[in-house]
Amino acid sequence: MPKRILIKGVPFDQVNRAEACDLILDYLKKEKQYFVTTPNPEFIVETMKNSDFKKVLEKADLSVADGIGILWASTYLSKLEQAKSRDFACSRAFYTLLQTLFTPKKIRKILPERVCGSDLFLDLCEKSSSKIFLLGAAPGVAEQTKYVLEKKFPSVKIVGTHAGTPQEKDEKVINNMINDSGAELLFVAYGSPRQEMWIDRNLSKMPKVKVAMGIGGSFDFVAGVQKRAPALFRKLGLEWLWRLIREPKRFKRIWNATGVFVGKIVKNKYD
Ligand code: UDP
Repeated sequence: MPKRILIKGVPFDQVNRAEACDLILDYLKKEKQYFVTTPNPEFIVETMKNSDFKKVLEKADLSVADGIGILWASTYLSKLEQAKSRDFACSRAFYTLLQTLFTPKKIRKILPERVCGSDLFLDLCEKSSSKIFLLGAAPGVAEQTKYVLEKKFPSVKIVGTHAGTPQEKDEKVINNMINDSGAELLFVAYGSPRQEMWIDRNLSKMPKVKVAMGIGGSFDFVAGVQKRAPALFRKLGLEWLWRLIREPKRFKRIWNATGVFVGKIVKNKYD
């Protein structure tokens, strides 16, 4: 089992992308059911006002850091801890934020790497021989995702797709559909926190599913509905800036994941 740290009570496992993929491939060979989460800074801000969501994230069997801001927070909080003094908290925050931009290796000591849910999704589709179900996104998007993935990875086994809704009234029909498909690996694209709450309520009702994971807008990227940030933006941890340019209406969400998140981590340093 990988070592785990907590950021504002939310667990994060100290794994890189390849290790996370290997762990999940291993889970798929076991009898137990596993819940994989990919928290980013927006998740942390949400848990501060939504304690049910925090409780669900605490149950994750594997939790990977899907955001450069999480790597920054792990470094900043550990530096404060080592200093044993709360003095200069703001200047330390500023310094570690500069490191994030200019010497990113320095913020990869606690958590080794940003493990993006969309990348992990593709890795698993490429490497897993398990039966896969794609749930969520707008009507037609999961089908288009299946089509693209089957072209890209000829051995992928996608046994079902469904848009559905994250509403409780639709759960029974969706559970039956997934059970009938025999799926063992379930990807849920309802956005957070809905997708994690959905998995928490429903995983035990789908006994053949061994691993369930929420993956936000990943189907949109694979299906070509949304364009993912170019590699340079991703490498610099600026995917949020790309999304802001492409979708200005996401401003509030992006502000939560950047300014509000940094403010809360620095301000609540005594927690
Ligand atoms: N979505 C959905 N049903 C809903 C709300 C959202 O299927 O009731 C889908 C939406 O179409 C998108 C995904 O959930 O494909 C979430 O995307 P978002 O960009 O919010 O996620 P992020 O990547 O930012 O976590």
